[in-house]
Formats: sequence, structure tokens, C-alpha cells
Amino acid sequence: MNLFDVYPLLDVEPVKAIGCWIWDKDGNKYLDLYGGHAVISIGHSHPYYIKKIEEQMHKIGFYSNSVRIPLQEELAQKLGELSGYTDYNLFLCNSGAEANENALKLASFHTGRKKVIAFSKAFHGRTSLAVAATDNKSIIAPVNETENVVFLPFNDEAALENAMNDTICAVIIEGMQGVGGVKVPTDAFLQKAKLLCEKYNSVLILDEVQSGYGRSGKFFSHQFSNVKPDLITIAKGMGNGFPLGGVLISPKFKAKHHLLGTTFGGNHLACAAGIAVLDVIRNEKLMMNAKAIGDYMISTLKKINGVKEVRGRGLMIGVELEFPYDTVRNELIFTHRIFTGTSGKNVIRILPPLCLSKEEAEIFLHAFAAVMKKVFVK
Ligand code: PLP
Repeated sequence: MNLFDVYPLLDVEPVKAIGCWIWDKDGNKYLDLYGGHAVISIGHSHPYYIKKIEEQMHKIGFYSNSVRIPLQEELAQKLGELSGYTDYNLFLCNSGAEANENALKLASFHTGRKKVIAFSKAFHGRTSLAVAATDNKSIIAPVNETENVVFLPFNDEAALENAMNDTICAVIIEGMQGVGGVKVPTDAFLQKAKLLCEKYNSVLILDEVQSGYGRSGKFFSHQFSNVKPDLITIAKGMGNGFPLGGVLISPKFKAKHHLLGTTFGGNHLACAAGIAVLDVIRNEKLMMNAKAIGDYMISTLKKINGVKEVRGRGLMIGVELEFPYDTVRNELIFTHRIFTGTSGKNVIRILPPLCLSKEEAEIFLHAFAAVMKKVFVK
């Protein structure tokens, strides 16, 4: 059997990873400024994370949600404390798309409505309603097409005000748009969305799948704007590579048996991984590190010739170039052995583990400046 060929692959085969570093099968060492797409939060192969998963594996790895799993309660408790959402409830699942799918479904159950507002360049996942709320026609299959989702221009308060009414079920916004090129919602936009959702009894969903879990320098990126969403979706950094997602649910939503559900979500091993991640984020002050290193990187990147704009917060950074990123990204990976992400045609996306040190940041900044000097002639 062959693999279904849906991924454009880099010609690198990682076999080992520690902290912010990856080794390929030929022994070459790479600096990881991509984190497997913002997934590696506490660093590769963190010893505490390995220990927690290993210990759990020797006890019980999996049982379904038909029995009590106290690890779920420990995870919820620690997540509440670290995020500040102590009064919210947690639904556990396995991925970002599934988190958004459940959030949208919950919003619809709660309001009895169907219409969802999403925004230009949004990415919420590849399944049913999550992909319908994603602004990319090429990944929406005919069966996913629906008139229930309306797209509005991002950061446009007036457009949102005009579109809102009492038929709107939910407004879904990324804490920072990731796939869309690291675009940060303005405080005024998020505050207006919150106000309008309150006015029309609609549900405000913040998709923090990529921007959450300390990446922005706060636990959630929307916490910079002083808004409290009704639902918050999480995944990526939550399990540091172990498939794990969730929805934080405001107390105003009433739970009912069988309203939501999943076979794998919240299993013992996933919870052990999730608890280890939260312990390390807290104990190693990774949010503070993300802010300090991120601020330093953003201010340094802004000074480099050929950089049009630098966007983002903490260790979620979009570097928009004045030209397509291809040569720069290839030089970074194949000459300097540094992994980076991309977005659109011109944006290099930086999503390293949150433990990135100043020295590691410097290695990237020097390499990036050298590549830009080499390829950008003006
Ligand atoms: N939401 C956002 C903001 C994302 O960036 C992604 C993935 O890139 C998703 C949802 C989907 O997550 P997953 O790939 O885990 O389904």
C-alpha cells in the first residue's frame, strides 16, 4: 500500500529531537523554529514529559469515557489555574478541527440557531463545519459547502456590526490568525465582537488552537484584549505532540449527557501528556520566556532589509518579505539547517518551542540576516 499523497514534503527525515533541536537520519542537526506547526510547546523529548507518559503507560494507557478518569479533572484544574478560566468547564477531544467542530455544535445547541460568522483568511480545520468556516475554497468539498457560514473582512468592526442580528449563532475568530499569515485581531475588533454577541445572545468562539497555550506570552492571545469569550478552542501545544484538543466552556452552557462525545478524547495517556505540558509551562515560566524572546526577535527582525512587516506576539511571528519566501526558506533549511514555517507566498512563520533561548534565537537571527543579505538585492 502507498501513502495517499496529500502533503508536499521537505526532503528531511528527522530521527531524534531534544529541546529546540532535531537530528536527521544522516546525523545533521537542525534548529526547530517551526515546532511541527506550533505543536511543540515545552520542547522536544522533555524529560518530565517523557517520565509522566512512561509512568502512565505502565499503569493504564486508555479507557473510554464510560468510566471515571481523575486525570481529566487534574488536567482541567491545572488548565483553569494557568489560564485564569477557573469557572469554565472543559470538554476534551483529539485535535483542533474537532475542538472547533464541537464548539460550533455547542453554540448551535445553545442558541437553537444556524448562522456562523467567520473572517477572511480564517483557518479552523478540515472537517465538516470547521472547514466550512475556513476561508479557503480549495479545501471545502461540495458536501461541506453551506450558506450557514458568512465571511466578513477581518478586523472590520463596521462590517461585523452590520452583519450581526438575532439569527447569528456564533462568531468564530482566531486568537491570532496563523495560516492567514499571523494577523492579530485589534483590541477594538475583539471587544466589539464580544459586545455584539452579548447584545444578540450569540456565542463568541475564540479559536486559540495555534495562538494559545502560552505561545503569545499570555496563556491565550485574546487575553491581551481584555475580552472573555463564551467558548475557547485549544489543541496543538496542549499535548506537545500527543494528539489532544479541547473546548473551554463558559458556565452559562448547560451540559447534558450525550450532547458531545468522543472515543479517544481525554484518555489516560493524553491526560498524562497534557498535565506534564501544563506543569512545565508553569514551572519553567515558559509564557514569560515566550514574551521576552518573542519581543527581542520581533524588534530585531523589523530592522532587516527586505522585511516588509513583522506581525505577531510572543513566539508566534509572521515575517512578511518584500518577495516570495522560497529561496529564503530553502537557504534556511538546507544551508543553515533551520526549520521555519510559511504562509501564503511571502510570509515566513516562526513557531518555535516556547523554551527557545536567547542564544538559539540569535542563531536564527544571524542566519536569517545573512540569507536576506544574500538574496535580497535592492
Ligand atoms: N484552528 C487553527 C487556528 C489552526 O491553526 C489549526 C491547524 O493548523 C486548526 C484549527 C486545526 O487543527 P488540527 O489540524 O489539529 O485539526
